[in-house]
Amino acid sequence: MAQPDHIRPKFWEKYKLGEMTQAEWEAVCDGCGKCCLIKLEDPDTAQVEYTNVACKLFDEATCRCADYDIRKSIVPSCVVLTPEKIAEAAYWLPDSCGYKLLHQGYELPVWHPLLTGGPEAMHEAGASMINRTIPEYEVDEEDLEDYVVEGLQ
Ligand code: SF4
Ligand code: SF4
Repeated sequence: MAQPDHIRPKFWEKYKLGEMTQAEWEAVCDGCGKCCLIKLEDPDTAQVEYTNVACKLFDEATCRCADYDIRKSIVPSCVVLTPEKIAEAAYWLPDSCGYKLLHQGYELPVWHPLLTGGPEAMHEAGASMINRTIPEYEVDEEDLEDYVVEGLQ
């Protein structure tokens, strides 16, 4: 059994999500920030629309959660993804999400940090939410419809 912090060469091509070490699992996340956006879901159709309004803990300058290790205690609704949860979360995750892609049998996109060595190519491809969000505390809940952005999912 591989150590939790072990990252094996090209692991994303060789192992299923449930077979990855903790470090490998974390590395599949490209850090796009799209799962930190407020989404509107139609309760009848389960259709999801993405807004450009971000969770209060999202730091758009770094495109990262500002307090990742204790995020659940600050934002109880934050979904902590696990291999077991990907199937049921796939409908609201963006199509570019590394977990969703691997779960559905696709390859990682060419800009993925695992392939390029860092997040820069992802940001340059416009695939992340860096510097393009509005914090949720600046938006009234009843106005969220006005912040729906097509093409984010
Ligand atoms: S959408 Fe997927 S890849 Fe992007 S930050 Fe969220 S978990 Fe990571
Ligand atoms: S708590 Fe952090 S990881 Fe969770 S949605 Fe907010 S910014 Fe994203």
